[in-house]
Amino acid sequence: MTGHDETALIARWQQVQQQITQAEKNADRPAGSVQLLAVSKLHSADAIRCLHEAGQRCFAENYVQEALGKMQTLHDLSIEWHLIGPLQSNKTREVAEHFAWVHSVDRLKIAQRLSAQRPDFLPPLNICLQVNIDDEDSKSGCSLEDLPALAEAVLELPNISLRGLMCIPQAGNQHALAALAKTHSQLVARLPALTQPPFDTLSMGMSDDLAAAIAAGSTMVRIGTAIFGERVSTN
Ligand SMILES: *Cc1c(COP(=O)(O)O)cnc(C)c1O
Repeated sequence: MTGHDETALIARWQQVQQQITQAEKNADRPAGSVQLLAVSKLHSADAIRCLHEAGQRCFAENYVQEALGKMQTLHDLSIEWHLIGPLQSNKTREVAEHFAWVHSVDRLKIAQRLSAQRPDFLPPLNICLQVNIDDEDSKSGCSLEDLPALAEAVLELPNISLRGLMCIPQAGNQHALAALAKTHSQLVARLPALTQPPFDTLSMGMSDDLAAAIAAGSTMVRIGTAIFGERVSTN
C-alpha cells in the first residue's frame, strides 16, 4: 500500500469508530459497549497489517481459504480472527484450529464438529448462532422456531462457548434488528444455563445500518465497506 492509501484507510477506520461512539451516546449506552469487527474479506493482508498497527485487533473473514492465507502472512501479529461467512462441514477442522470466534453457526452438526475438532491447547471456541430473522428464502440461519433447541444442545458441547446471536437482515429492515434483540432476551429468560460463559453478544450492524443496530442493542458491529472501501469481487 502507498502512504496515501494507508492514511485514507486509517481515516475511514477512525471515522467508523467515531460513528460508533456517537451511536452509543445517542442510545444512552456506555462508551465502549460496542465492539468493532473489521470485515476484511477480499481485502489485502497489507491493509489488515496497517489497521493492526493503528490498533485494530479483531478482524472478520467470510471465506476459510482466503482467511487461512492471510493468517499465514500475518502470523507475527496478535489478531483475533472471526469467521462470519457460511461454514460447510468439510471446513470445520481448519476453522476450529485457527479462529477465535464463529458467528455463522446455524445447525447442530457444525457445532458438534467444531467442538470435537477444537484443539485442547486452545480455549473454547466462541460461537454465535446465526438466526434467520426475516428472510424466508435464505438457507442460512436457524429458524426462530428451532433456536431454543439448538441453543440448548450447543450448551452441552465441551469445547464451545455459546456467546450470542447473529443476523444478516435484508437491506433496510430495521425491524429485524429489534427482533433479534428481543429473541436474545427471550432466550436468556428461557435457558437459565446461558450465563456461564456470558451469553452477551448481539452480532448485528454492517456499514449501512451501523447506527440503527447500535440503537437496537448490538454489541458487535461487522464493518467492511465503510473501513476498507468497495470490495472487488473475484466471483
Ligand atoms: C461482508 C459482510 C459484512 C460487512 O458488510 P459491509 O456492508 O461491507 O460493511 C458483515 N457481515 C457479514 C456476514 C458479511 O458477509
